[in-house]
Amino acid sequence: MRVSLIAGNWKMHLTREAAVRLARDVVAAVADVAGPQVVLCPPATALEAVGRAIEGTRVLLGAQTMHWEPQGAYTGEISAPMLVDLGCRAVILGHSERRLYFGERDEDVGRKARTALAHGLTPIVCVGEGLQDRERGDADGVIVRQLAAAIHPIPLDRLQDVVIAYEPVWAIGTGLTATGPEADRVAAVIRAQLAAAGGVPAAEAVRVLYGGSVKPGNIGEFLDQPGIDGALVGGASLDAGAFAEIVRAAAR
Ligand code: PEP
Repeated sequence: MRVSLIAGNWKMHLTREAAVRLARDVVAAVADVAGPQVVLCPPATALEAVGRAIEGTRVLLGAQTMHWEPQGAYTGEISAPMLVDLGCRAVILGHSERRLYFGERDEDVGRKARTALAHGLTPIVCVGEGLQDRERGDADGVIVRQLAAAIHPIPLDRLQDVVIAYEPVWAIGTGLTATGPEADRVAAVIRAQLAAAGGVPAAEAVRVLYGGSVKPGNIGEFLDQPGIDGALVGGASLDAGAFAEIVRAAAR
């Protein structure tokens, strides 16, 4: 049995005071919800403050990106040990916005995932096709390529500790979503690839999330799918009530 996971990606929103307020609201709203793991990923500037606000609660701290080296001359970057020092337990890697706007390459994601695991962070690795890939009929090809690069550097005995977020790029922040069965089909493609790389037990242990315009009104469709174990939530995670409803749906 895989433990479901709902992660909120706050992206480049909220200064510290507002971030702490939202974190406290989320903690209060999900305090009585047992079951799913809940991860909040504030911007780097609010990690410490949010970490303090959620310390000792059922809500875990995550980051939105990190560098693949543990230290070094990489101006502006943040390392895995720095995130661990702030209390992070997870880190989003290879988000489509990082790939699109900051040139993050497939192989970077793999190096980052390996480093995250080595420092005790759960990598939430994002894969997903763009609209053009989809229109060309190459959605699966893109996902397979991204996933292959992401898992290539990971020791096989750690494969089970990776979380994969299937995020079709055309669904992120657009209000469009994949259908539940579509997302489940891609989750099966992902697990087949993981099984080929590291064996069926590891693949069956890996959690696959759906991400892309998840809201309280559509989360049920994704959680109904046997291969989908939760969600990576962008816009709706900025609203404590909406996010808590999504977490509540995952508890059923
Ligand atoms: C995301 O950024 O990972 C995401 C899924 O965003 P949204 O929920 O806003 O589509």
